[in-house]
Formats: sequence, structure tokens, C-alpha cells
Amino acid sequence: ELARLSEAMDRGDTSELRTASRHAYLEKRKKMKVEEMRDEIIDNELIFDGVKMTNAEEEEFRRRKEIYELVKDRVGKDADAGDYYRMPEAYDAAENVDQAKRFAVPRQRYHDPEASAARDGKRSSFFSEQEAWEEQQIRKSRLHFGSGDGGRAGGGYELVLEDVVDFVKSTVQSGAEPDGEMDELAEAVDAKVKLQRELQDERKNLPVYKFKDDLLKAIEKYQVLIIVGETGSGKTTQIPQYLHEAGYTAKGKKIACTQPRRVAAMSVAARVAQELGVKLGHEVGYSIRFEDCTSDKTVIKYMTDGMLLREFLGEPDLASYSVVIVDEAHERTLSTDVLFGLVKDIARFRPDVKLLISSATLNAERFSDFFDEAPIFKIPGRRYKVDIHYTTALEADYIAAAVVTVLQLHVKQPAGDILLFLTGQEEIETVEELLKQKMRTVGSKIAELVICPIYANLPTELQAKIFEPTPEGARKVVLATNIAETSLTIDGIKYVIDPGFCKLKSYNPRTGMESLRVEPISKASADQRAGRSGRTGPGKCFRLFTEYNFRHDLDDDTVPEIQRSNLANVVLRLKALGINDLVGFDFMDPPASEALLKALEELFALGALNSRGELTKTGRRMAEFPLDPMLSKAIVASEKYGCSEEVVTIAAMLSAGNAVFYRPKDKLVLADTARQAFHAGNVGDHVALLNVYSAWRESGYSSQWCRENFVQPRTMKRARDVRDQLEALLERVEIEHCSGAGDLDGIRKAVTAGYFRNAARRQKDGSYRAVKSRQTVFVHPSSGMADVPPAWVVYHELVLTSKEYMRQVTELKPEWLLEIAPHYYQRKD
Ligand code: ADP
Ligand code: MG
Repeated sequence: ELARLSEAMDRGDTSELRTASRHAYLEKRKKMKVEEMRDEIIDNELIFDGVKMTNAEEEEFRRRKEIYELVKDRVGKDADAGDYYRMPEAYDAAENVDQAKRFAVPRQRYHDPEASAARDGKRSSFFSEQEAWEEQQIRKSRLHFGSGDGGRAGGGYELVLEDVVDFVKSTVQSGAEPDGEMDELAEAVDAKVKLQRELQDERKNLPVYKFKDDLLKAIEKYQVLIIVGETGSGKTTQIPQYLHEAGYTAKGKKIACTQPRRVAAMSVAARVAQELGVKLGHEVGYSIRFEDCTSDKTVIKYMTDGMLLREFLGEPDLASYSVVIVDEAHERTLSTDVLFGLVKDIARFRPDVKLLISSATLNAERFSDFFDEAPIFKIPGRRYKVDIHYTTALEADYIAAAVVTVLQLHVKQPAGDILLFLTGQEEIETVEELLKQKMRTVGSKIAELVICPIYANLPTELQAKIFEPTPEGARKVVLATNIAETSLTIDGIKYVIDPGFCKLKSYNPRTGMESLRVEPISKASADQRAGRSGRTGPGKCFRLFTEYNFRHDLDDDTVPEIQRSNLANVVLRLKALGINDLVGFDFMDPPASEALLKALEELFALGALNSRGELTKTGRRMAEFPLDPMLSKAIVASEKYGCSEEVVTIAAMLSAGNAVFYRPKDKLVLADTARQAFHAGNVGDHVALLNVYSAWRESGYSSQWCRENFVQPRTMKRARDVRDQLEALLERVEIEHCSGAGDLDGIRKAVTAGYFRNAARRQKDGSYRAVKSRQTVFVHPSSGMADVPPAWVVYHELVLTSKEYMRQVTELKPEWLLEIAPHYYQRKD
């Protein structure tokens, strides 16, 4: 491994090194004295260090505050005086305040040459992926909390969180002008109108409001503008409304605003519809994969970045849009990065279109450089001082530590809601359960704790709950994924708990495998997360790692997704748009050529490209489906095997989410029996999904049927929606509707036509070996094939938990591989 690493170093490939150093970090956590940890947790005590400000820094804050107070009034007058606008840097200059430095924890203090030398040395310690993952699973299984300490609850929480720092209050903004004449009328006015009023007042309170006119003037003057502002300043919700008011939606034109996350697109659209007093889907709508909530009336359209990318296919010049806002640009998702290149191109030949790139972080120069030196419009943020606390020792079990910290804060800290960052749905559900248990045992001795989870697959009805005001006397704790880092702003958060991890996609170009992993976050992310506590007043952030970790183990920034993804989907999409020269494509950070090559190879093997790299008819058809190329290929191939009806159903079930079945704790046996019925005859997981859907359809899409069979009605409804859309697309690409009526091999061959890369062969010890990547993999315990493992299988995806598991597995005849993908599985003689 060392030899390989030093080779990688010679090549200048740092991704390997990064992975190695990650593993070293996990290793360190593993070595922690777990027993010691346990004692600490049982005592309900975690020890945090406060970061002290030196006297000089405090002095500096005070001085700046004074200067600010002095110049504030004058600035106010100047702003109204002339018929000119200024870029907000001018405000900064007037205030003599550096926004970046004012509120952040001063970075320079962390510079420590000795330590960075130590970090360089550490690179040589290597730690296998498998071990890292086992460690994580073990940590998960250790989860038990506070056993036997119920009696001490209430009075027993000893807290060591002391306010060690005396903070200088640094409010930036004087805020809105109170509306005087309101009271007399208020009683006569009905609740709706009152709510509207409140909403409008809130709008005026947002930092961006002060810059509305300047912003509109800047947009008028420049075709491309980079907009930078603190999260929560109103960029996403307000700017499209300002543009709408200013007439950019006249003449049937629309405003597009992209979001990296589905939940953000939905939630923000709902909010803006409410602010404008219109029904969601009318003037304001959203569009996410498999769900289009817009109409002919829609003029402000929030959408995922992936959906805008798809729109290029039907409208290459985006002619129906007068403004395109690429929002949350700092997230640098794969789709956003591709959009950058495409919209930059459009701006060149459509002088009438306005392009806004909006970002939360302060390194906007990169965006400006990429967009031909486009001007940067800074919205001075309103961020209060945030007090950072670190743990004094590594937290081996960050879930348990997080739960303890929530309770500690709840019992000991003054009013204010808590935001806890976790990596995904499973963790969130675990923590929710642990907190509920704990709250039950302490009963009414402490104040109510309102627990609000938020993650991508949370049902829409529940998403709104995080925004509901906290009841009097209670405290809200929001358990969120990265979505709350910058995409969503929840008012009232005063405390942030940051375990320092997130789920990240990673890609191994050597094997062509992509996987989601829990990884340490970057310093930039940690700072964003901390900032979430300082929106409405001074906040506190509790990091469940040490200051040493922060300095030495975290990268400065997260690597853009494009450099850690399988690019097959993007390459297919670009080819379908007629962009053939991928190496010459204008990427802000070009992907590794190795990864591009791998994607081309993969598409060639799928028959989407010919040997000259041109799109084939199959490829053109595949590109129409909003699915992974392998799944699209299975659908396109189903025509040949006479089973497009069945394969479309399977594709819809696979796309609707992983939660098809559920197992209530008191009915495990019943649930498992019901589930096994769909697998009768060891048909494989794909056909089992088909069986579920067919039986549900026969029941008349009944929810009663779902309950009886322990199937999630929500997943089924979604599958039905997805299926309807895929069926419409079949027509569009002229694939015949045909049903194989029981020819299971036909269905399996169609699946294999897409997934032949994911073939695996059983080995003597019962594990499998992936045929192409040579990886050792296992059948996921939830699979119907787990008990009757066939010699050859094809799988839908790999999931990494304690082992590398194959999820959704179907038996395969090895000769199919040569029949279906001869160029991929050539015999090596
Ligand atoms: P930015 O894009 O600059 O981060 P936003 O426009 O998202 O800021 O947020 C502005 C304000 O709108 C915040 O105070 C936030 O709490 C509020 N907000 C946004 N979405 C919702 C929602 N779905 N429900 C209630 N409030 C919301
Ligand atoms: Mg935003």
C-alpha cells in the first residue's frame, strides 16, 4: 500500500493521500480508551473547552463596534442621498469592518508549523477501509445510553459547560422600522391578513432587504453577477421575488432558481408562495425529479440543479427564462458544476438573459474568475458572535456523546433551540429514539423537548414541522443532515452540536465503484455549521472533537463532487446535448481524465456510445430517462426481451426508495412471512419488487392491502407516480409497451443488460467476488437471496456498512454475460 501511495504522490494524485489520512483519523478514534468514555457518558458529563479570546482580540471587537456605531447613521443617509448605487463593499469600507474577520473565530491562531509537519508525517500510516467501517459499525452497536441513571435525572445533570468567554455584543443591523399604525386595525383584520403582514415584516427584516435597490441596479447593469451573503440573509427566498416585482417575469418569462437538494427546493418554494400569498404550484412552484409542482402560471421556479440540467435537453438555450439563479453555488455539486459551464455558454449568445451565481461562503473570487471576472455583490451578513467549545478528548461514540450533549444543554442552558448535525436518516432515527427514551424516563422533571428530524426522504408533511415556532416553555432540537448547513435556515437556533461528520460520495476510478461514506467534514463546513447558532443572537457551538482534530485532521474545503463521482451520467447528458469534446468542456475544476475515460468506457459497454464516442440511438433513448445510465439501459433493453411493462415497474420500485417493507417490533414473524411470500420460488429481489407492485395494483392500489402485507404505502404511491412518468417516457422514445407474462428470464436478462458490470460469483467461503472489480462482497441480509445464494448474481448497488453488501440481488446465468456484454466480458485467452 505504501508503495502505491508514494507512486500516487509522484503522480500528484492527492485523493489517495487524503483517503489514507482520513483512515488514520478514524484509527485514532478507534484507539480511544472506550472504557473511560463510557464512564464519562454515564456520568452525563462531557467536558468542553472554550476558545478564549485574547484581550487584544476583545479590544479589537470593541473598537470595531464603536466605529460601526459612529458611522452607522452617516451611512444610512448616504445610501438614500444620490441616484447612484454602490456595491456593498462600499458599505464595508464605510464601516471599516472586514466582514470575514469580524465574526469568525480568528483562523491565524491555528497556524502551527510544527503540527503541520507532524501531519505530513502521519500520511504514511495506512488503515484499511474495511477496518474503518467495522470500527464504525461497532460504534453503532455499542449504542446504549445512560443505563441505570434514571434516578439521578432532574437534579443530577452536572454540567461543566461554563461561559468562559465574555463576549462583546456585535449586532450589525438595526433591522426593520416598526410599523406604527397597525394596532387599531388589527382586531378587525382577519388572521390571514395578519399573517401576511407578519410575513412582510419578516421579509423587511432580512439583511438582503437593505440592498434590494442596489442589487436590482447591479443586475440591470451586469449580465452575470456573483452574489455572496451569509446563510439566512434572504438570498434564496427574496431575490427571485425582487426580480418578479421588478418585471423580469413579464412577457411570459420565468425565473429559475436551482437548489442542490430536493427538500430545499420544496421547502423554499412553499415559503415563497406563502410570502406572495399564492398557492404553491401556481405563480411559485418547484420541480424535482419525478415531481413537477408547476403550472402554466408559474413564474418563479425553484428546482434541483439536476432538473435544470435536464431542461437543457428540451430547450438548449433556456429561452423561457429571463433569469437563471444558480443558488448554493458553494456546495459544488456535480450538477451545479456542469451547469456552470452550460449557463456561461448561454450567457454569451443570449444577451437578454441574466445570470446570478449565489453562494454562502466568502471565497467568491473563484466564481468571479470562472465567469470572466463577473462583479461580486456582497450582502453584509448579520452574524453574531459564536462561542466555540471543543471536547477535551476524542469522542469514540459520537452518537452517544451527541445525545448527552443535547440533554446537558437542555437542562442547563438558557432558552434557545438546538441544532444537531448527523450524517443520515438512520443516525437521525437512532438519536430520536434515544432522546425520546431518555425524556420518558425523566418524565415531567424537565421542560419539554420537541424533537424535529429533517433529512432528504422525510415525508413532505413532516418537513414543515421544523419551521413551526417552539411552544412556550419548551425547547426544540432539530436533528438534521447537512441540509441545515446552508440550504435551510431554521430561526431560533442558539446552540449547535457538531460531531464533525457527514456522508460524502466517493469514487474509485480504478474499480469504477462509487459509494457513500461517512467522512470528517472540512473546516469550512465546521465554520458554516457553527454559524447557524449565531443568526438571531450570540450562539454557542459544541464540537464533539478536539481543537487539535480541528486543526490537524480536517481539510480546509470539501473536494467538489465532480472530482469524486462516477461521471457516466454527466457524460451521457452532455453527449445528448451535442457536447462531444468533454476534455475541452469549460469545467471550473476539471474532473480527472481517468474518471472521464472510465465513464466513456462504461457508456460504450452499455451501447450508449459507439467506438468513436458518438451517441448511439440506444444512448439517445437512455438520456431521456431521469435515471442512472444502467437503469435506463435496462429499460431500453427490455423492448428486446418483450417485457418493458415489467422492467418499468421494477425501475420505478428501485427509484421509489429503499423502504418498501417495514417490520413492526411486535409483529416480526408476521411481517417476515408476508415479505417472503413475494420471494416465493427464489425469484430474486428484482422480481420480488415486481410481485409487490403487481399485487398492490390488483388490490386497486389499496392502503389496507399495504397494511396487511407490511408494505409502506408511501413508497408504493411514489413508485406509482414514478412509473407513470417512466411509462410516458417509453412512448416518447418509442419503446413498445410489451409484457413478458411470466418470462422471468427475459426480465432478468433485461436487468443484466443494464447491470452486467455488477456481476458477482460465489466463492467457497460463501462470500462473492465482483467479477470486474475483484472486490469481495456479500448478499445484504435483507435480500430474499440471502438464504439461498446462487452461484452467480447481478446486483443493483453496493452499500457499505460493516461489510460491502450487495443490495437487490438476482440470479444470473454466466453465459448471459457474454451474450449481453461481449465487449465487456471478452474471454482472456
Ligand atoms: P439564504 O438563501 O440567504 O440562506 P433564505 O432566503 O433561505 O436565506 O432564508 C431567509 C429566511 O426565510 C430565513 O429566516 C428562514 O428562516 C426563512 N425561511 C426559509 N424557508 C422557510 C420555510 N420553509 N418556512 C419558514 N421560514 C423559512
Ligand atoms: Mg439559500
